[in-house]
Amino acid sequence: MAGICFIGLGNMGGPMAANLVKAGLTVTGFDLVESLRDAAANAGVKTVTQLTEAIEGADTVITMLPAGAHVLSVWREIVPRLARGTLVIDCSTIDVASALQAHELATAAGLRSVDAPVSGGTIGAKNATLTFMAGGEPKAFAAAQPILEKMGAKIIHCGGAGAGQAAKICNNMILGISMIGVCEAFSLGERLGLSHQALFDVASTSSGQCWSLTSYCPVPGPVPASPANNNYKPGFAAALMLKDLRLAQDAASATGTATPLGTHAQELYEAFTEAGHGAVDFSGIIAHLRRQSRE
Ligand code: NAD
Repeated sequence: MAGICFIGLGNMGGPMAANLVKAGLTVTGFDLVESLRDAAANAGVKTVTQLTEAIEGADTVITMLPAGAHVLSVWREIVPRLARGTLVIDCSTIDVASALQAHELATAAGLRSVDAPVSGGTIGAKNATLTFMAGGEPKAFAAAQPILEKMGAKIIHCGGAGAGQAAKICNNMILGISMIGVCEAFSLGERLGLSHQALFDVASTSSGQCWSLTSYCPVPGPVPASPANNNYKPGFAAALMLKDLRLAQDAASATGTATPLGTHAQELYEAFTEAGHGAVDFSGIIAHLRRQSRE
């Protein structure tokens, strides 16, 4: 293997690139931000100051960038410069339309391309326990799999181009909706005089059971590791949840799919972030729901 180029060394990309180094791979990294390049260099990534320099000699390129516009801009610059057969993997969470455009750019240039967004957050990125949901041709996926395994615990091939992004936004729409449902139940339980622990003990072993309750309980106490016990410090910031809910709604509009609860979840997270809470963990929306209750 000639080497891996990793573009975007932020909260997720930095630790992911570091895990590739830990696994013994040669990684060249690039980010626009100097301090992030320095942090990656401390983790053993060979860093460079130009995007085009980063891809020299790479047989695999991974991007981990904020949104579709960033991914397309970077791919438009690098794709024409890469040797035919190079594997390009985008791990960012982006809209399905941009993911498809990126695949088209790559395949038209004779490259192998995979969309592989992740679940598991910054802790999963650090601990190499991410779940990757991948889209692309079986041969491209087969080439990507051993590399993704060095950064994650579960790698799922969801289908052709764009299928990874599709799975990611559908999953996160469930998460946004289910978190609001759990928050509403605790809010109502409080008014009915139920203790948090009693509601948790019942719902976590009954039909109300879900990840938002059992792994990420939005009230302090029942799940000690949840952000509710740490003043709603993220975790997964409300602004990122809103980003993903908007991606789901874009896809729902484009395909004419009715997702009324997804629409409402987006509106609620919009109101929460517009009120200045975008940097709060997404489970903190329980405070916003409580504020809407009658005095
Ligand atoms: P981040 O903002 O910390 O990192 C993105 C990095 O991309 C930044 O460091 C930025 O400087 C860099 N960048 C932007 N344009 C660039 C360019 N042209 N060339 C090189 N570098 C460039 O974001 P993050 O939290 O690491 O998230 C990355 C992606 O992963 C996003 O799509 C996000 O939605 C997704 N994601 C994040 C989490 C999370 O918990 N943070 C979880 C799952 C998925």
